[in-house]
Amino acid sequence: MPAMTIDTGLVWDKAIGSEIFDVDGRRYVDFTSGVLVTNVGHSHPRVVAAIQHQAGTLVNCYLSPHPLRAEVASRLAALTAEPLKSVLLLTTGAEAIEAAVKISRRATGRTEIVGFHGAFHGRTYMAMTVGGLGAVKRGFGPLVGGVLHAPFPYPYRCQLGSGSSGHDCARHCLEALETMLAAEATSDIAAIVLEPYLGAGGSIVASPAFARGLRDLCDRLGALLILDEVQSGFGRTGTMFAYEQLGIVPDVLVLGKGIANGVPMSAVITRSDLAKSLPRGSLSSTYGGNPLACAAALATMDVIAEERLPERAARLGKRLIERLRLLATELPLIGDVRGMGLAIGIELVRDRATKEPAAEHARRVVARALESGLVLIPPIGLTGNVIRIAPPLSIPEDVLEEGTTILIDALREAEK
Ligand code: PLP
Repeated sequence: MPAMTIDTGLVWDKAIGSEIFDVDGRRYVDFTSGVLVTNVGHSHPRVVAAIQHQAGTLVNCYLSPHPLRAEVASRLAALTAEPLKSVLLLTTGAEAIEAAVKISRRATGRTEIVGFHGAFHGRTYMAMTVGGLGAVKRGFGPLVGGVLHAPFPYPYRCQLGSGSSGHDCARHCLEALETMLAAEATSDIAAIVLEPYLGAGGSIVASPAFARGLRDLCDRLGALLILDEVQSGFGRTGTMFAYEQLGIVPDVLVLGKGIANGVPMSAVITRSDLAKSLPRGSLSSTYGGNPLACAAALATMDVIAEERLPERAARLGKRLIERLRLLATELPLIGDVRGMGLAIGIELVRDRATKEPAAEHARRVVARALESGLVLIPPIGLTGNVIRIAPPLSIPEDVLEEGTTILIDALREAEK
């Protein structure tokens, strides 16, 4: 179906580390990691060996216990903060969001869910409804009932008061959320669902002040805070999970993408007291925590720890953001550079004063980069004017430099 594909002009054949080879054998630098999936690099030998071994041992045993599933659960519980100790293993990010919402409704006995403008949580009905991107929902209504939305702080274009600093923007958005709840909530709130690093929405980072405000609000209302770290988890943002930099701990953590470096797997980690409110067998799935995905996840977690990839992402990302901000002083096309670790966005504008989005320029930068040997994710953001940098966290420094040079040349050309 055409609905499944976007034409990027590239037919992948194979990928190793941070390099992609197309079907004609041409080599490209990868600034996509698939779509923020292959955090330890494509075809990492440790992950490949684990998959190969497991493929010849056991691939599916449905819901019967097996040692690898138990090991993945305890490793995840050890990586996350108290009181996140109960682990559910599933297959996709959207499926894990569905489960997180189900847990929140069953555990609280409430129905209403709050999501944010610009968020992306997947394409199933509840995940799509909680998300806040019009293009994802259009034509698919009616959506699921019992979901409300509030503005996500976007300091570069704060919707609530022009010229707001990041801190003011977060405060305004928290106030708007409370006003919205007073006007629109029809029952007590079961959960607030936050994507701490708004990926598809434009690479926008939630501030610690905003996250703390939401944590306080949830505690005051008796609602659960669900964090969607499908994209920001597993070292991508410079710590194992983005919440570590926000100074909060959620009640429910949703993981996916980088968890098994490309073998489909997702997870929901929550408080044991909340998990106990669900009857046995009420959240099962055919592929959830299958041995093949578990083997890949365990090898991936080993590599992330041994190669200290979160620290590497923090160091390389900080340096790259500084360099791009310096570039912005000579290229007016660059309106804003932002991100966390190796999840970086460059917002392009036609005019610095009006901040008119430069979507056509963004498309040209991606196309030009591809011609020169760099693969970028198609432009993101509400108006499609944000270029994304998200290479594997293991990218060698010379390959990162090669990709950055191509990107800067493409930006300079688009500016002309
Ligand atoms: N949540 C976030 C933040 C995502 O970025 C995505 C996918 O891009 C999802 C959820 C959905 O994950 P999946 O495509 O595995 O269903």
